[in-house]
Formats: sequence, structure tokens, C-alpha cells
Amino acid sequence: MTITAPHTDTHSATSTPLVDALEQLRDAAAALDIDEGSVQLLSQARREISVGVPLRRDDGTVEVFRGYRVQHNFTRGPAKGGVRFAPSVDLDEVRALAMWMTWKCALVDLPYGGAKGGVAIDPRRYSDAEIERVTRRYTSEILPVIGPDRDIPAPDVGTDERTMAWMMDTFSVSSGFTVQSVVTGKPVALGGSLGRATSTSRGVALVALAALERRGIAPRNASAAVQGFGKVGRHAARFLAEAGVRVVAVSDQYGAVLAPDGLDVEALAAHVDATGSVVGFAAADALDADELLRLEVTLLVPAAVEGVIHEGNVGGVRARIIVEGANGPVTTAADAHLAARDVLVVPDILANAGGVIVSYFEWVQAKQTYRWSLDTVESRLRERMLGAWDAVSTEQTTAGGTLREAAMRIAVARVLDAHRNRGLYP
Ligand code: NAD
Repeated sequence: MTITAPHTDTHSATSTPLVDALEQLRDAAAALDIDEGSVQLLSQARREISVGVPLRRDDGTVEVFRGYRVQHNFTRGPAKGGVRFAPSVDLDEVRALAMWMTWKCALVDLPYGGAKGGVAIDPRRYSDAEIERVTRRYTSEILPVIGPDRDIPAPDVGTDERTMAWMMDTFSVSSGFTVQSVVTGKPVALGGSLGRATSTSRGVALVALAALERRGIAPRNASAAVQGFGKVGRHAARFLAEAGVRVVAVSDQYGAVLAPDGLDVEALAAHVDATGSVVGFAAADALDADELLRLEVTLLVPAAVEGVIHEGNVGGVRARIIVEGANGPVTTAADAHLAARDVLVVPDILANAGGVIVSYFEWVQAKQTYRWSLDTVESRLRERMLGAWDAVSTEQTTAGGTLREAAMRIAVARVLDAHRNRGLYP
């Protein structure tokens, strides 16, 4: 099968992830009555690094990519955040994603600040050996700012546990000894945590079911559409189906498939493993990828990239609940439209926090050199996710606004509290 990427309809010209992230911070700051100096402190990254990443290609020619690592904040503890390999990566995108990591870690009360990194490369256009060289060179360029107590990378779009193994190996070779706790999302054979690979999706499904319960809808009466069938979307679709939700549509960057009676998610996953895309899955109809966002479903789970539900298409969204598996999939302008129509939006910093929660567990296990059982990991994940859901729901019920505004108020207040306790040096 030949796969071509269709036009991707993402955020409108005025809305970018960074503009949205800053606006969300300003809203929270206004609600919390935070002084302008503190807002400025929280608006800017503590540390940013931009590096050239030269690659000797398999044919001997050389190409140079741009790589970044942004540490937005590390007042509550080491910086933590994923590494993205995608052509769209630029400094502003990484800044926004790093800032969202700060709020996410604070919201679920992890002793971390927020970071993000990336390389502007389309990994599918390069061989495995080339991606390994890019990963190792990028790691060595950012080496001075990462480490188990400084900044701990993890997988994101376009990277996976193999990428983390190469990053860990590069860091360890430079250190002269094995350092497992420098990255999370590693293979289990290298100290990765049981349950990490599915943790983001588990968390997405847990809060999706909690949101259904809040709206008085039984899972068996609910339908869902999932955008993205990567590390997050694939297992989110599977866990929702296991909970009895009818998953009617799934998309990836190449197209979408629809089965009104419910997709066989396991069979779809096997098709994706064999062909590289959901496109062409025989037990479903083809669907226009943008059409997926307009389906009349109970739950819509955007689990691909940011800015996909924006001012230009939000009017067509008919889902009753949106659970943000991806970071920043709903723009600030779209958020306001959805709130006015009483569509419940479970914000990214809550909905997809399962990944960083189990990353934290992985880091703790590496530091303890002691492995937890899968049951321990999953029950502690559940406890943290549902605890955060309860805290955000209660904040929203008592102080008003959307779930995102409530989550942001809790997170920003915690980070500011840490700043106030530490004081300003000198
Ligand atoms: P991934 O690279 O594993 O998968 C991305 C998926 O999205 C792929 O199926 C790709 O084909 C699809 N996609 C890309 N553009 C699309 C488009 N325009 N329309 C439809 N599908 C599209 O990435 P991932 O790790 O699953 O991450 C997805 C999102 O979740 C990102 O926003 C990421 O930051 C966020 N996230 C990931 C984790 C994690 O643990 N991996 C944790 C928290 C948040």
C-alpha cells in the first residue's frame, strides 16, 4: 500500500500553541490575582537550548537539523518532558509544550518542573541507523542540561522506547557508568517501568469514564471517536472498547475509518502493525480524516497533535465530551465556543497526565533500584488520576469556569507557592 499524508487542518493563523499557553496562564493569573512580576516569571522559560544536529546519512552526505530543549520551570524539582521528532518542531512549539508540562506535573503533584525537547525532522524519511545517529548527537548536544536530577526526557510524537534506550546509552557512556534514571519510557529490559507504555492511554480512559459518569452516561450507551492511533490513541481506543464504549471511528495522519456498530480495535491494531496505517482496514468504511471531528459521538478523543479543534471547525463538533489525549488539541478560541455549548472538555494537563505519572514511578524505581509489580503501578496510577480528577471537579464546582480553568488555577497556584517559599535569588 502507498500511503500519502493528506492536508492537515490544524490551528488557525492567529492561534498557536504558545499564544494559547500564554493566554491560559494569563487567565489563571487573573483568577488567582497574581502580580504582574510573577506572571512574567511564569511566562518565560527558565532555560532554553537550541542546537544544530548534523547527520551523516547512509549514503555519506550530511544534513543538519535543528534541535531544542526548553526547561520552562524547575522550581518544584527536576524538569520533565518528552522529546518530539517531527517536521513541525520549532522553538515556540517546544516552549508551549514545556510550559504545559510544568502545569501538568504540578496538577498531579509530582516533584517536577516542566520541559520539552525536539528535533525538526520527519523520522519516517530516514533509516533506523540514521535516526539512531540523530538521537545520539542530539543527546550529546543537550548533555550539559539533562540528568536524573536536572531534566529527564521521555518519548513523545515520533519517538519511542528505542529512542530512550539510545539517549540513556549515550548519557551513560559519557558518564562512564549506567544511569537508568536519566530518561523514562525506556524498554523494561533497561529499567523501564511495567505499565509505562500504556499509562497515558490508561489515564485518558480513566478520566473519560469519570466524565461519562459525571454526565450520567453509562459506557455501554456511549460512542467514541479517536483521532490519532499512535502511542496514546491506540491504547485509549482499546481501553475504551474494553470498558464497553462503542469506538466508532479512528484516524491517523493518512486517513480515517468508520464502523457505526463499533470497530474491532484489536483487529485494527493488527492491521496498523502490518500496513503502517488505519487506512484500508477491511472491517470498516473509509472516512475523511477531518470528518471524524464532526461525528455525532458521546466522546471525542483527539490524541494526535495540537490545534486540531479551532475557531474554524469548532462549530461542526458534535461530541458531548472531549478528552484531550494530545497536548493542546483544542485552541483557546474553540474552548470558549465549546464551553458556551456546555461541551465538557477534559483538559490535556489532566487527561494525558498518566504518562508522566508512570514516568515518575519509573524514575523512582530506577533511583530505588527496585521494581514494582504491574498491579502496584496501575493502582497507584489510578489513585493519582482519579485524585486529580476529583480535585479539578471540586475546584470547578466551587469556584466556577471550565475544567481547564479549574485545573490551571490549581497548577499555577502550586508552582507559585513553590516560588514564594524558595524566594527570589539574589
Ligand atoms: P505518536 O507519534 O505515537 O502518534 C501520533 C499519532 O497521531 C499517529 O497515529 C499519527 O499518524 C497521528 N497523527 C498525526 N497527525 C495527525 C492528524 N493531523 N490527524 C490525525 N492523526 C494524526 O505520538 P503519541 O505519543 O501518541 O502522542 C500523541 C499526542 O499525545 C501528542 O500531543 C503528545 O504530546 C501527547 N502525549 C503523549 C504522551 C505519551 O506518553 N506518548 C503523554 C502525554 C501526551
